[in-house]
Amino acid sequence: MSEVRLRFAPSPTGYLHVGGARTALFNWLLARKQKGTFILRIEDTDVARSTQESVDAILQGMEWLGLDWDEGPYYQSDRFPVYKEFVQKLLDSGKAYKCYCTPEELEAKREQALMDGRKPKYDGTCRELAGDVPGKPYVVRFRAPHEGVTAFDDLIKGRIAFNNDELDDLIIQRSDGTPTYNFVVVIDDATMGITTVIRGDDHVNNTPRQILLYEALGYPVPHFAHVPMILGADKARLSKRHGATGVMAYRDMGYLPEALVNYLVRLGWSFGDEEIFSKEDLIEKFSIEQVGRSAGVFNPDKLLWLNAHYIKTGDPSRLAGLLVPFLHERGVDPTGGPDLVAVVKTLQERSRTLLEMADGALFYFRRDFSYDEKAVEKFLTPEVSPLYELLIAKFASSADFTHQSIEQIFKEICEEKGLKLGQVAQPARIALCGGTVAPSIFEVMEVLGKEETNLRLEKALAFVRRG
Ligand code: GLU
Repeated sequence: MSEVRLRFAPSPTGYLHVGGARTALFNWLLARKQKGTFILRIEDTDVARSTQESVDAILQGMEWLGLDWDEGPYYQSDRFPVYKEFVQKLLDSGKAYKCYCTPEELEAKREQALMDGRKPKYDGTCRELAGDVPGKPYVVRFRAPHEGVTAFDDLIKGRIAFNNDELDDLIIQRSDGTPTYNFVVVIDDATMGITTVIRGDDHVNNTPRQILLYEALGYPVPHFAHVPMILGADKARLSKRHGATGVMAYRDMGYLPEALVNYLVRLGWSFGDEEIFSKEDLIEKFSIEQVGRSAGVFNPDKLLWLNAHYIKTGDPSRLAGLLVPFLHERGVDPTGGPDLVAVVKTLQERSRTLLEMADGALFYFRRDFSYDEKAVEKFLTPEVSPLYELLIAKFASSADFTHQSIEQIFKEICEEKGLKLGQVAQPARIALCGGTVAPSIFEVMEVLGKEETNLRLEKALAFVRRG
């Protein structure tokens, strides 16, 4: 089998959208699965709309998702001489021609066609011109066949056919000498040896025009796979109105790249009833033919569920590293506080995002929190004072300070005082964390250490005594 070559070809006119990321992912997965080559190509021929900022945002998004490329990034703006050469080749072989019709003439013809109830289409005025008209501006048009059918077997959508008489004589070079989009895509895919083109299905209508160009140039036509759009819950195309659509916005909201990868692949692709896929699983199991034909509906709850799974099962030291910027955002510098990895371990079960984890971790690094009012009312009654005193005394005299030894002390107190665990644990939680919603109090105390634990108990004791 010859080597497969796939590409992701974003236009740098904005950040990396989740739809684009999914297209990139499908290409990357197939390249990795078939041990082929994954190419990144920046389609920046639209100079007015392309920005370096967008290029950077796209590269950053790809890197964050772990979609590494083997070749590129190639920039179309670097390849104008190549496109010029191919325009000349088509002109020389008579497969393209110069068209001198002015925009005004074309517009008048278009209006006439509309008035006559015909589909507007270039009427071929210059198609059979005998020679060049020196000094007059021109565009270059592709001499497309007007009879027959152009069809392809889309790997996702099945057979798609267009009548050639519906296709115009495509402009491949504008009057200012710049090449047009449908032309440069073909030149790039052909000269870069792309074997399968996976892209959004908004490009289906471009495909027959592109196939005719491959044929005219004598290049093999690649396979095509057009990926359905992503929709919002209201079945409209996913847009900002449905929430975040940029890949990096998800990082900033505390999502893990593996959760987004898992989610985006499953959006439109399934493998039995499995939900959780590592990248390695995906490389093994993914196939483009199994991608569904209908558009996927973006479900933020499912993404959140997957993220919670990856946080729960993630490596604590890695999560600790990822958590730091979220803590900084909240004005917390975790150096010098309790061990961040130990902190993370207590929060993994109860955080769906790194953002939630950062919020949940704040009490570890701040002693100046105020107590939750409802919790105070319910649990910080005068009878709590002797309880705090007892905890402080027992901790002070205990050699060990592990969650097991701490639990043991709680049990002793319950027995001695005839209390239920919650009656001791809740006031302790408020003292240590400010409220009653917190990780296991034994673990919290172990992470904070004996000294800090007793300091916080003393503080709560003073608060209760004040009444
Ligand atoms: N640059 C095009 C886009 O961003 C992709 C073209 C293609 O994949 O063929 O929509």
